[in-house]
Amino acid sequence: MEQKPYRVLLYYMYVPIENGEEYAQEHLAFCKELGIKGRILIADEGINGTCSGTVEQTDRYIEHMKADPRFADMIIKIDESDEHAFKKMKVRYRPELVTLRLENDINPNETTGKYLSAKEFYESLNDEDTVVLDARNDYEYDLGHFRGAIRPDITNFRDLPKWVQDNKEMLGDKKIVTYCTGGIRCEKFSGWLLEEGFEDVAQLHGGIVTYGKDPEVQGDLWDGQLYVFDERIAVPVNQKEHVVVGKDYYTGEPCERYVNCANPECNKKILCSEENEHKYLRSCSDHCRTHPRNRYIAQHGLTEEEVEKRLAVLS
Ligand SMILES: [Zn+2]
Repeated sequence: MEQKPYRVLLYYMYVPIENGEEYAQEHLAFCKELGIKGRILIADEGINGTCSGTVEQTDRYIEHMKADPRFADMIIKIDESDEHAFKKMKVRYRPELVTLRLENDINPNETTGKYLSAKEFYESLNDEDTVVLDARNDYEYDLGHFRGAIRPDITNFRDLPKWVQDNKEMLGDKKIVTYCTGGIRCEKFSGWLLEEGFEDVAQLHGGIVTYGKDPEVQGDLWDGQLYVFDERIAVPVNQKEHVVVGKDYYTGEPCERYVNCANPECNKKILCSEENEHKYLRSCSDHCRTHPRNRYIAQHGLTEEEVEKRLAVLS
């Protein structure tokens, strides 16, 4: 197969970074000069980035990072792509890489769950004494997840600890295995589970992305698609079969197409067909459909009369 002209990189590393704000500015200048696009977070505790560029640009970026002793051992995941996956280049300094809002923050280099290879994770999916807990948000789960995994009812990662505390009976005293997109969230979350008193805690090393590329398991037992935080939104994981688990918000029919609610104050992620997007004015509720700043109505230049007509069909 011919190589695609672009690549999307995904990486993180928990490693102390001094003068993070300064480094963020420096790194932004480097990325801009190179011509890559993406979103990179710099914190005192490390780096988390995803960016896209041509094969040559991303090669140079990887080379640059590997030459820095702090990042020499960093695992950089690579997806081939037909085009850029971002519109802009942003490098931001943040106090934390991932936000769990803990009183006592977790340092994954000191406390974290056992790392599972793709093969070991696959085996745990088939193990009765293990619960597999998705460490992502509800809209990520709804597009795709591992078969049988528990779905925490959260839209923000920072709400996950509270959800676990409120739903302890679901986890019982079984072994717990967690997973997320690239692994960064589980590094902290699995550490938190250990601190919380759960004794047998493991995590999928390298996340779903690594699992999907593993030559042996080939994404087996993953259903649906993987939600990614770039222009692609959804990418495949399971190389053996594709089972659609996403459901159209309005009709419940199989669907893997995400849009955002047209009410800018809501912005909820909705799975829906193109047809239903138009029928329901890309809005999650009547309240959002009739919101004065509804973006669907503005984008399509609908007159009041036309909006009335469409609403009448729905009532
Ligand atoms: Zn809404």
